[in-house]
Amino acid sequence: MAPDIAMRATKATTGEALLIVGAGVAGLSLAIALGRAGIGVTVIDGASRPQTPADGWDINEWDLRVSALTPASVAFLDDLGAWSQIPENRKACYTGMQVWDAQGSGRIDFNARDVQTPFLGHIVENRLTLQALLTCAEGCPRVEVLWEHGLAAMNFIDGGWEIGCDGGKIFRAALVVGADGARSRVRELTAMPVRQWSYDQSAIVGTVALATHHLDSCWQAFLDTGPLALLPLADDRKVAMVWSLDDSAHPAIAELTDEAFLRALNRALGPEAPTACQIGPRASFPLRQCH
Ligand SMILES: Cc1cc2nc3c(=O)[nH]c(=O)nc-3n(C[C@H](O)[C@H](O)[C@H](O)COP(=O)(O)OP(=O)(O)OC[C@H]3O[C@@H](n4cnc5c(N)ncnc54)[C@H](O)[C@@H]3O)c2cc1C
Repeated sequence: MAPDIAMRATKATTGEALLIVGAGVAGLSLAIALGRAGIGVTVIDGASRPQTPADGWDINEWDLRVSALTPASVAFLDDLGAWSQIPENRKACYTGMQVWDAQGSGRIDFNARDVQTPFLGHIVENRLTLQALLTCAEGCPRVEVLWEHGLAAMNFIDGGWEIGCDGGKIFRAALVVGADGARSRVRELTAMPVRQWSYDQSAIVGTVALATHHLDSCWQAFLDTGPLALLPLADDRKVAMVWSLDDSAHPAIAELTDEAFLRALNRALGPEAPTACQIGPRASFPLRQCH
């Protein structure tokens, strides 16, 4: 007997008409928006409930994953009640954008005042956005978030979805939303067509301390091995670095000691950007196109 059928035979069915798989920023935002519109929704996630994030200012204590939130995203989070839950002193408002071709003379600089707006966006650590959304979701009577409920099976039966979880629990829902990230199991189980390829690049991410103020600006150099970006953090001498490198160039840079890495980083940035003087823990991610 197939495992999903076995589960169906032995466990009771439970859940709302609408089920979201994945309690990341996408899944929780949708759940809160629906809950506030009076629609009951269950969210399942295979991971454990995230702990309250550390909010230290040491270089090791910043989330390596940050997002640039545009004014439209901020307005949406505000509508959900989540924006005010993110600590003010961790929101990095940026007003400038400096982009240049490190091999040539091309350059684009612009500022919020050029477009008569107070700011271009905010850089916020993902774990803080997630925590704010979780607080809102948990305060929303129509939203139920269940951790440690990994999606294991999906079957379309009698005009609705039957969802089997790792622990054996079964849900029935008229509509299922796959918000389970880049390696979506929902997409896989429903054989959704996907267009994907590797960029043959990997990104090195890390928190970098600067010798001077970041000027509330995003800095991006286009190198012949890929783009290198510095995104301002709420500490005005720290930035989130995302250095994308061709796979042929990546290992030599990724394996450098911190001291040698900083030298390579400052060489790559050139005189256009503030000088990097300290680097926190680094991580690398392969870059893929996937839609
Ligand atoms: C270092 C780094 C930097 C990034 N910077 C940016 C950036 O600047 N801007 C940007 O837009 N994006 C950035 N990204 C990508 C960013 O992480 C995603 O855009 C964002 O997290 C997507 O949110 P999501 O809710 O769709 O998915 P995720 O955050 O991946 O959340 C998916 C959720 O689904 C759960 N899940 C997965 N599988 C299952 C399953 N089988 N059953 C149940 N639950 C499951 C996971 O536990 C997770 O909680 C970055 C990513 C990395 C790694």
